[in-house]
Amino acid sequence: MEREIYDEDHEAFRDVVKEFIKRYATNEKREKWDADGEIDRETMLAAGEAGILGLSVPEEFGGAGMLQDYRFRAVVLEETIKAGNGSLAGALGIQDDLAIPYLVHMGTQAQKEKWLPRMATGEVLGALAMTEPGAGSDLRGIKTTAKKVDGGYIVNGAKTFISSGKTADVVVTFVKTGSGNRPDAFSLVLIENGMAGFEHGKKLSKVGFHGWDTAELSFTDVFVPDENLIGGVEGKGFVQLMMNLPLERLSIGVAAAAAAEAGFLWSLEYTTSREAFGQAVADFQNTRFALADMATTVDVLWAYIDRAMMLYKDSRLTPEEAAKVKFWATEREWEVLDAGVQLHGGYGYMLEYPIARAWTDARVHRIYGGTNEVMREIVAREVTGRK
Ligand SMILES: Cc1cc2nc3c(=O)[nH]c(=O)nc-3n(C[C@H](O)[C@H](O)[C@H](O)COP(=O)(O)OP(=O)(O)OC[C@H]3O[C@@H](n4cnc5c(N)ncnc54)[C@H](O)[C@@H]3O)c2cc1C
Repeated sequence: MEREIYDEDHEAFRDVVKEFIKRYATNEKREKWDADGEIDRETMLAAGEAGILGLSVPEEFGGAGMLQDYRFRAVVLEETIKAGNGSLAGALGIQDDLAIPYLVHMGTQAQKEKWLPRMATGEVLGALAMTEPGAGSDLRGIKTTAKKVDGGYIVNGAKTFISSGKTADVVVTFVKTGSGNRPDAFSLVLIENGMAGFEHGKKLSKVGFHGWDTAELSFTDVFVPDENLIGGVEGKGFVQLMMNLPLERLSIGVAAAAAAEAGFLWSLEYTTSREAFGQAVADFQNTRFALADMATTVDVLWAYIDRAMMLYKDSRLTPEEAAKVKFWATEREWEVLDAGVQLHGGYGYMLEYPIARAWTDARVHRIYGGTNEVMREIVAREVTGRK
């Protein structure tokens, strides 16, 4: 089904992204990133140079000013994922959808001036650290504290599962500045590489997204100056997180739709060229029906996701709508990719094939950004009116 949200500017931008992929995100590069467990800095700088990173940074700070209009970001996700490069899509997404928005929406003028121009170029990479070994879904259970002292805070604690945690230069960190677990007991602080007591733990070995680092972080008496308190006001951290979650969940929905579409296209190509019992695999009725189901799911996905993108553009995507998008899209993505793996036979299980990589990448879409169970809780709360 033809999509209607893009105009010629988006299509011209798509060409820029494709050219970038051709030059900087070759298969050899991807294999190296997968082996190293991270994307090299040169590639991130090249993405900044090409104008496909930092899209969410306002123009006055050197970016494209596209925080509310997600369509250009969607083009980046679509093309990198279609090129079989989920890890690159993820690394670019952390910068634009998770790190930069906290500074754009909530940062002080001084914080914006200090960080955003270099985040737009890729000179400074960011990460977002909320999850701890003992607290993921239940964020108010975190134990990392930031104790007020003269001129700043002393941070102690640990975070885990932090995307881009190893490669990031600055980490937007969710900490406890008050007692109890009321929303005003929490704040966000920017913790910089090189601050005494800030250690990067080991790079975690994951099922998918092999070329994108995920790390543990630890903080031992780290002094964080007042100027690094996001927004300059204590006790706003929980509200700040809630404000950005619709964007994070929309971005996962877009990535899921892009991966489902790519999975369908790879499966179509594979089954039309692979033969069994003297005919193309695509000519078995089972394959034809599976492809028909996949194509239809992809169409419905995009119709829904495109609508969500346009609502977000007009600041009308509610947290509940974003939760629906996240859980529904990632579950359709999983169905399509799993069917695609099956249609590829044994080759579908080989990481050399993009369908296999996309399938392993997709599994975490139902877990991070808020698990799909928690998403259903958010939706159920709204539809039933009961806590
Ligand atoms: C690859 C990867 C990258 C990640 N990147 C980041 C990152 O960049 N920054 C960051 O801060 N975090 C990140 N995370 C963490 C991720 O967001 C959490 O893993 C996720 O929120 C779940 O938390 P948890 O692992 O503690 O599971 P738990 O919260 O312990 O959940 C365990 C199970 O209980 C269920 N459950 C929990 N609460 C409820 C409830 N109220 N109702 C019903 N079921 C419930 C969950 O759905 C799940 O099935 C990442 C995780 C992974 C795997």
